[in-house]
Amino acid sequence: MGTGTLQIDLDALAANWAALDAKTGVETAAVVKADGYGLGVDRVTRRLARAGVRRFFVATAEEGATLRLHLGQGPEINVFSGHMAGDATMLRDARLVPMLNSPEQAARHRAALPEAPYGVQLDSGMNRLGMEPADWAALRADLEAGPLTLAMSHLACSDDPGHPQNAAQLACFTEITQGLRAPRCLAATGGILLGPDYHFDLCRPGIGLYGGLPFAAAQPVVRLSLPVIQVREVAPGESVGYGATWVAERPRKIATVSAGYADGLIRYMGGRARLWAGETACPLAGRVSMDLLTVDVTDLAEVPDHLDILGPSQAVDDVAEAAATIGYEILTSLGRRYARHYLGDSA
Ligand SMILES: *Cc1c(COP(=O)(O)O)cnc(C)c1O
Repeated sequence: MGTGTLQIDLDALAANWAALDAKTGVETAAVVKADGYGLGVDRVTRRLARAGVRRFFVATAEEGATLRLHLGQGPEINVFSGHMAGDATMLRDARLVPMLNSPEQAARHRAALPEAPYGVQLDSGMNRLGMEPADWAALRADLEAGPLTLAMSHLACSDDPGHPQNAAQLACFTEITQGLRAPRCLAATGGILLGPDYHFDLCRPGIGLYGGLPFAAAQPVVRLSLPVIQVREVAPGESVGYGATWVAERPRKIATVSAGYADGLIRYMGGRARLWAGETACPLAGRVSMDLLTVDVTDLAEVPDHLDILGPSQAVDDVAEAAATIGYEILTSLGRRYARHYLGDSA
């Protein structure tokens, strides 16, 4: 087979959720936007629902409508982008709960779907999504009189426990939601790790479920094994790959492996990332191509038929570092060409 194999361990995913849930003492939801962080929203959510998740978050109503088809009627689905123009039918038919982000969204929702539940997303300092405190103050009584199911906000710096903005956002959110009857939610993965002050009534981790930082104790969920297409000897002075940027100083053995930047293996990692044969690291030699990587396997006694780029020896965040990005981008960039194998029962 010429394509790589992406193995997704659903039991590790469920264990990560349970480990985060055990830290919170309150309800723990799951963020499954962007196709479950690239891992397949149908399998991911079925396994999480079986583990006990009763509430999911997605980015858009379209994602929510797809998720509803996979999940059936039980779990609650919340939509971060709120109620956008044209969403009413989808929100109603799929029973999605929009997180209203502005007075305009609030007016739109209550005009189109007067009986339908809603949450509100409040800006506590990130200045990305959410109602400004002054708008919320003006609308709060009216919104509280209707079926308000959640008030949430998002931390900008929760992956950095020492950042002063964490405490500032906590203080802001606490103040503007004082006395609210609806449940409150501030913490994603990073917020859970900041401790109980940040947990309120509900937590909503994403990246930690999928094995990424800042949840350093997460079990790895993905393993990506790439088939070796051919192996060649390269003499001193010969180059490898586009631009002839890598030149052998000594006799080298080069494996050409099937996967490239079209599969989410970001071109910037050329010359920086490593692949693994068991516990032996094999550096990339030369640039990343669209469909191919070239790897220095000189140190291997025997070249296996696959090399791993993600797995027990190299986590998502290690690859992210070599690509000058974050684990979130590595996961959500994983390509469509891999054969996906799910471990653990998702039924
Ligand atoms: C993506 C997202 C989350 C999940 O954050 P993680 O860092 O992946 O745990 C939570 N809330 C909002 C608003 C988000 O956009």
